[in-house]
Amino acid sequence: MKTEEGIVTKSTGNIHLVRNSQGEFACRLKGQFRIKGIKSTNPIAVGDHVLFHIESNQDYGLITNILERTNCIYRKSTNLSKITHVIAANIDTAFLIVSMSEPCTPIGFIDRFLVAAEAFRIPTCIVFNKHDIYNNDTEDYAKKIQTIYTSIGYECIYTSVPNQEGISLLADKMKNKVSLFCGQSGVGKSSIINCISPELHLKIGTVSNYNEKGKHTTTFSQMHQIGNGGYIIDTPGIKEFGLIQYQKEEVCHYFPEMLDLLEQCQFSNCTHTHEPNCAIKQAVDDNKIFQSRYNSY
Ligand code: GDP
Ligand code: ZN
Repeated sequence: MKTEEGIVTKSTGNIHLVRNSQGEFACRLKGQFRIKGIKSTNPIAVGDHVLFHIESNQDYGLITNILERTNCIYRKSTNLSKITHVIAANIDTAFLIVSMSEPCTPIGFIDRFLVAAEAFRIPTCIVFNKHDIYNNDTEDYAKKIQTIYTSIGYECIYTSVPNQEGISLLADKMKNKVSLFCGQSGVGKSSIINCISPELHLKIGTVSNYNEKGKHTTTFSQMHQIGNGGYIIDTPGIKEFGLIQYQKEEVCHYFPEMLDLLEQCQFSNCTHTHEPNCAIKQAVDDNKIFQSRYNSY
């Protein structure tokens, strides 16, 4: 009996599909399976790296170990609940698809998303799609927004599906990686994915518009393999991405440009709103923190 390593590509209750270079295997979990310190309704999620073995006379493989996660997205059944439901694990990059036109993505939407991504420790790349239809004004606005986010450390790229602008750059970033596509309805998520991996066409029809209530067609998470060895996660749970509840005090920790300044506030419990000698407010006055970011905070 040989132990194999693989990645969970689909998880439906008791059966987990695990893929590696040998193929895809339906597996069950070995007996009582718990991860130390985590209270979760599902011990294993899409994106998890696991050890498993296949017994020749059994229909299912057996997952014996789950390897440490680099990050995961989860939701809680209620705000106070300690029990989590893990939606996906080990995400290399979240691509936040935005547009400056048809529809114009509000800056507050971007900030809300980035706060959640920071909380989940998921590196984010901002993709300005529909670049082909920006006019002078929207182009200026895009440049302004780009300046804000690159200065904080987020990578920004421009794409256009009809012009194929930026698509191969984006595809390169997804190569052999696990990616998540997020963003408002209509910004072009499905179009970009289809462009990168046309063979997914039918499946991508199920990528629901996560910000429109009641539009989810899938009820469990799964990963689609794309042409260049990467994976795209398709999950209804992303709807919750922007809706996790934070403790008031922790939110500033998810604004990377605020982190280094926090110790310089006069009061250790500073809320950065009305207190005197607040390093954050000072930085906003000095144009070291962008006003729009502070407003979102
Ligand atoms: P999703 O809801 O984010 O998956 O967005 P879709 O991929 O369904 O795209 C919504 C609409 O935008 C469709 O009519 C697409 O043809 C159009 N679209 C997507 N990408 C682009 C682009 O780069 N440029 C232009 N002009 N239209 C685009
Ligand atoms: Zn302060």
